[in-house]
Amino acid sequence: MSKAMTINPANGEKVAEYNRITSSEATEKIALAKEAFASWKGKTYAERAQLMHALGDHFDTNKEEYARLATTEMGKTLVQARKEIEKCAWVCRFYADNSEGYLSKELVETDASRSYVTFQPMGVILAVMPWNFPFYQVIRFAAPALMAGNTGVLKHASNVQGSAFALEEAFRKSGFPEGIFTNLNINAEDVKTVIEDKNIVAVTLTGSDPAGRSVATIAGANLKKTVLELGGSDAYIVLDDADLEEATDLATFGRLQNNGQTCIAAKRFVVLEAIYNSFLELFVKKMRQAKMGDPMDESTYYGPMARVDLREEIHAQVIKTIDQGAELLLGGEIPQGTGAYYPATVLADVKPGMEAFDNELFGPVASVIRAKDEDEAIALANNSQFGLGAGVITSDRERGENVALQLEAGCCFVNKLVTSDPRLPFGGIKNSGYGRELSGYGIREFVNIKSVWID
Ligand code: NAP
Repeated sequence: MSKAMTINPANGEKVAEYNRITSSEATEKIALAKEAFASWKGKTYAERAQLMHALGDHFDTNKEEYARLATTEMGKTLVQARKEIEKCAWVCRFYADNSEGYLSKELVETDASRSYVTFQPMGVILAVMPWNFPFYQVIRFAAPALMAGNTGVLKHASNVQGSAFALEEAFRKSGFPEGIFTNLNINAEDVKTVIEDKNIVAVTLTGSDPAGRSVATIAGANLKKTVLELGGSDAYIVLDDADLEEATDLATFGRLQNNGQTCIAAKRFVVLEAIYNSFLELFVKKMRQAKMGDPMDESTYYGPMARVDLREEIHAQVIKTIDQGAELLLGGEIPQGTGAYYPATVLADVKPGMEAFDNELFGPVASVIRAKDEDEAIALANNSQFGLGAGVITSDRERGENVALQLEAGCCFVNKLVTSDPRLPFGGIKNSGYGRELSGYGIREFVNIKSVWID
């Protein structure tokens, strides 16, 4: 029987092994989720909201336990893991309170005596999720999808199965009936059979571009809707009027948060010529000062990468970029010892055509790019296969907004790191995917937008 194994990336020790379920067991669980849908869809919003509030409370009560589990499984700092669990509670409460408003009937004036649009649940949704926010990514899908009246089955990343089972238990302990939210502990190869299952109506995937393409291809062949939240290589334009202390604080945290493994992390810093050298000097100093270490230690700024193989991958990308002509100003060496640690790394004079410019670097590695003026900075930021988030750092809000509106991305933040907020839609364009999560746009992804005409 195949197993999913979790290894603590801070010390390389095995945490646990989980037996995979067979495909016939998966079929049974999906059938149960379909059965649960039959009664769940008939519940009132108030009934569902009561349970969703209970889930929010459950996250508050179990914050420390869940945060430690996330840190143990994928290495994020405990301080940031606690914030992740708090965010889960927020999103549960947000959708408990707002779903009815987002999905209430919309009357439309036509020739009918009465016509309106109604939003009805679709059925069982499959969520394929990544390890980098092992609790939050799942809740970001599940809270709206379940509040809309759907049921959900989860294929979580193999290295965070403990979090996947903890989530399933969290739903159960908060009073959700059996079958409303189910962890399918399956291999990535078994996702195809699950998508083909007649009881699955739609799929959402958060993860890499290759995984997204594969899932979308299978779902397309089966005419099932997909939402894809994929990779990014967010550009942050640092304009020549930026306060450099603030800009470099933002850049350091932006690149190292979650140990550099955030889809919307600041990855490419496009800096105007006039301040390029002074930005670099201060940025390198702050990146050097950031403390790498045990993620359980509260004074640690960033911990290890999630897996040793991912560290090897990013190191190869760094070496390739240097070979292509970029300058290594900090880091770039695999440290001795156990764990999947990789040091804060700064690559300067990165240009289009280089690995770090063209592809996503999912780890604590910053690329700094020189632009002669604002127009060139915008062109460089947009010269990317991705379009998830983008940022502008400036002391002139109006100028920042003007640049933000020209950037090709699903969202653009001025003087703040891109973040996902349940009140705003979240998602990408280009190879960063399609569809939206969060806000009213997100909850309407997995509903039947149905027109009703009464003549
Ligand atoms: P990944 O390797 O694509 O894995 C994501 C999930 O997809 C895992 O559950 C994985 O299962 C599964 N999977 C992988 N290949 C698959 C395939 N061919 N068919 C079906 N399922 C497949 O990504 P990751 O390394 O976990 O996460 C990092 C990537 O996710 C980065 O590119 C990051 O930018 C992106 N991301 C995007 C967002 C967003 O909101 N846009 C948020 C977070 C992360 P196994 O673990 O079993 O392989």
